Amino acid sequence: MLSENLKWYFPSSLPQAVKLIQKPGIILHAGGTRILKTQSKNIIGLVDISNLKLNYIKSKTNSFHIGAAITFNELIKYSKENNCLKMLAAALSQAASTPLRNRITIGGSLKDFPLWSNLYAPLIALNAMMEIKGNKSGIYSVEEYVSEGMIKSKHIIKEIILPRKEEFAWKVMRFALLKFEYPLFNIAISLKLNGKMIDDSRLVITGVRNRFKRFKKAEKFLIGKNLSLNLLNEIEKFVEPKFVSDYKYSSSYKETIAKVYFKDLLSEIIKENL
Ligand SMILES: Cc1cc2nc3c(=O)[nH]c(=O)nc-3n(C[C@H](O)[C@H](O)[C@H](O)COP(=O)(O)OP(=O)(O)OC[C@H]3O[C@@H](n4cnc5c(N)ncnc54)[C@H](O)[C@@H]3O)c2cc1C
Repeated sequence: MLSENLKWYFPSSLPQAVKLIQKPGIILHAGGTRILKTQSKNIIGLVDISNLKLNYIKSKTNSFHIGAAITFNELIKYSKENNCLKMLAAALSQAASTPLRNRITIGGSLKDFPLWSNLYAPLIALNAMMEIKGNKSGIYSVEEYVSEGMIKSKHIIKEIILPRKEEFAWKVMRFALLKFEYPLFNIAISLKLNGKMIDDSRLVITGVRNRFKRFKKAEKFLIGKNLSLNLLNEIEKFVEPKFVSDYKYSSSYKETIAKVYFKDLLSEIIKENL
């Protein structure tokens, strides 16, 4: 249960909001889907983000800037209307349910980073950057934000910045045995192709131990290779996701399934581009 004396704040600027969240027990409220689920008694104040002007998607020459208050469904709609951001939109459209996607925001989802996140894998595969305001103000890659521990600091996510690169091959997938269950993992693969040759590759999984894993050896192995189904057998040894067992599924079950899906997704990309 949330505290009965919970106080709401409605700042109209980022500096005001940053100042408010420095106080113990005062946190930002975006979609509220995580806050409502956990209902922590330690929360004494909620800072509403609606007046912070973070509800935008800007299309620039080399990048897209997506404000932290954009919801999953707003991004999906923008993607359809403007024929862009397809990989991210495909991943987010698999998340939760329509009412939840109308609430879940990019910023809340990044700060929260649940095991079942649909957002992280495509963002890391797309080498997305993000701007944060607070103790560690700056622009960081999404990968650094998690691995360097910025995620734990008191800050406000202002926006994510995605390089505008439409000419790559990609696949995303969310694995859950039942559609309405939390997924066990999410996979995102992006390959930059130069004809039949792989110029760059990023292979990412979330839901694993340490939150996410980029298979850097596999990525390196693929670069400079020509597309061929023979790559699938060779790449297998570089894709070793490590999971934690839970009340329902063992780590080895998840590891086996994830490896199968990696291979399947890669095989689809190769067949579509041969
Ligand atoms: C039943 C259910 C199923 C779900 N299934 C999925 C799924 O399949 N895939 C998926 O990706 N997600 C799913 N989610 C959503 C996920 O679990 C989180 O609830 C969601 O990511 C939180 O986003 P929010 O905008 O609601 O954030 P909030 O609940 O408002 O906030 C979450 C945290 O982020 C902080 N925060 C909010 N905005 C910012 C900001 N701009 N900068 C810094 N910190 C901020 C808050 O202070 C809080 O600590 C599901 C949620 C539910 C309830």
